[in-house]
Amino acid sequence: RMSRLTTVKTLAGFDFAFQPSLDRNRILALAELKFIDRAEVVHLLGPPGTGKSHLATALAVEAVKAGKSVAFATLADIVTTLAKAEREGSLRERLRFLARASLLVVDEIGYLPVVPGGGNLFFQLVNARYEKGAMILTSNRGFAEWGEVFGDPVVATALLDRLLHHAVVIQIEGSSYRLRQHAALVPEN
Ligand code: ADP
Repeated sequence: RMSRLTTVKTLAGFDFAFQPSLDRNRILALAELKFIDRAEVVHLLGPPGTGKSHLATALAVEAVKAGKSVAFATLADIVTTLAKAEREGSLRERLRFLARASLLVVDEIGYLPVVPGGGNLFFQLVNARYEKGAMILTSNRGFAEWGEVFGDPVVATALLDRLLHHAVVIQIEGSSYRLRQHAALVPEN
């Protein structure tokens, strides 16, 4: 998405009033970055357009400002990168590199089905970071759907086992910010 390259998403630029189900104080507490020191996993869950990527980026910006090393990618990008590294015989180095950042943001879990073998590769990364480095994950799908997302219920269970231990789950239940201008076009019931 072009907008991501041209606009920096910040906490100051997030309109909490638009998303009343979201506890502003929980987000501001996360911005203190203790979750990074504790190597916790933050899950931002909710329908498309509810600001998950915006908040993940804004927290990543706070982490960079505090001098933390941060990596940011979509799940699809991570799987593609790891699959390429595996083909080229450099998977270990790639995993080590991605395990090194203090914070890894994995955006857009659940939009695209994960390619065969991708869940396994992602699991290796999660395992490499487990209890060592913090993560922020964004997803439009509930945990019960991860078997479907990863095309493999066994891998999904193993992933969730690690990703829900030392975890903070933030569920946003709201409407899409992208569609807000169209609200007037939607008939009220
Ligand atoms: P999601 O990741 O949940 O699909 P995004 O974070 O990509 O949603 O949000 C879609 C667009 O709307 C982005 O341009 C984002 O900056 C903007 N946006 C979403 N929610 C808010 C909000 N509450 N205040 C300001 N901008 C928002």
